[in-house]
Amino acid sequence: MRKILVLVEHSGGVVDDSAYELAAAARNLGEAGGDVSVGGVVLGNDVTDLAAGLGAWFENVYVFDSPRLQVPDGVAGAELLAGLIEQEQPFATLIPHTNTGMDLAPALAVRAGSPLFADCIALETTPDGLSGVRTRYGGKVHARISATGDGGFMATMRPGSFDTGEAPGSDGALHTMEVPGDLAPQRRFVETVAPEPGAVDISQAEVLVAVGRGIDEEEHLEIIRSLADVMGADIACTRPVVDKGWLSKSYQIGTSGVSVKPKVYIAIGISGSYQHIGGIKGAPYIAAINKDPAAPIFGVADVGIVGDLFDIVPLLEQQIREVKGVG
Ligand SMILES: Cc1cc2nc3c(=O)[nH]c(=O)nc-3n(C[C@H](O)[C@H](O)[C@H](O)COP(=O)(O)OP(=O)(O)OC[C@H]3O[C@@H](n4cnc5c(N)ncnc54)[C@H](O)[C@@H]3O)c2cc1C
Repeated sequence: MRKILVLVEHSGGVVDDSAYELAAAARNLGEAGGDVSVGGVVLGNDVTDLAAGLGAWFENVYVFDSPRLQVPDGVAGAELLAGLIEQEQPFATLIPHTNTGMDLAPALAVRAGSPLFADCIALETTPDGLSGVRTRYGGKVHARISATGDGGFMATMRPGSFDTGEAPGSDGALHTMEVPGDLAPQRRFVETVAPEPGAVDISQAEVLVAVGRGIDEEEHLEIIRSLADVMGADIACTRPVVDKGWLSKSYQIGTSGVSVKPKVYIAIGISGSYQHIGGIKGAPYIAAINKDPAAPIFGVADVGIVGDLFDIVPLLEQQIREVKGVG
């Protein structure tokens, strides 16, 4: 049975979605017969209850619970995880490519003597090792990297790049791990910086209405909000809309923004640059409204409407209201 470890990120007592995404990605790394045992690793203070709630996702949950882990600390985390890796000898250890993960993974890779696949958007086993995909040149190029060997691989994975799927419903065993008394925190807590007001999480949205520079004026965003409202969708945007200060950065899809994986994505007044499209994962149903029939967005759209968004968006909203029977 091939073992995979996943570092579970959490904050304020809530497990981050990246943990479920990585758990699902880990299940694809089994041996030929699909045999795989996925272990979740939880580091923190007063986190045993949180760890106990993860049994449906992981066959084993390893919890390091100590006041010494109150503040995320890559050095301390790497030390503890290195010990667990030595004990469990996993085929691979998956870490979210977040601030915490980026802090911990390089130190851990050095300690464990593992090759590190950084910021992967895909990962698969090969006959003689592991292969991953990461983006280069702002998302223009997808580079495949690989390493050979029987195991001991490590990868940081970009949040939003993998579907969470369903919990496999395992009845995971909880293992309380020892945190050495001499583990000295290397970090000093200074302050918690709250997300900017109005920040949203579009990475998990199922339906996205995205707007681009074609909207022309900030006040015109109202027609996009109105359409999104009636559709029960979230709104998102391209970088120029953020650069103009019309929406905050948390709404930006793309290689320098957020990766999203909606089921339906509607692009309004968006040209379809690779930096924008590079942030859309999976295979959503894409509808595009653009007045330029040669806009690249039509090359990836399932349905395209060539026309002026100021004519089409209100019409679309009206049609949806009629179909839904709402006033
Ligand atoms: C390093 C780097 C990273 C970047 N990262 C990102 C990123 O993460 N996300 C991102 O989005 N961009 C990113 N960009 C910017 C990217 O290159 C494009 O400039 C950007 O995506 C274009 O946004 P847009 O489609 O809104 O604007 P435009 O390319 O200007 O397109 C506007 C579209 O609106 C259409 N339009 C205009 N008026 C109307 C109307 N009345 N009705 C219908 N259609 C209309 C036009 O035909 C046009 O196709 C990055 C760039 C660089 C260099």
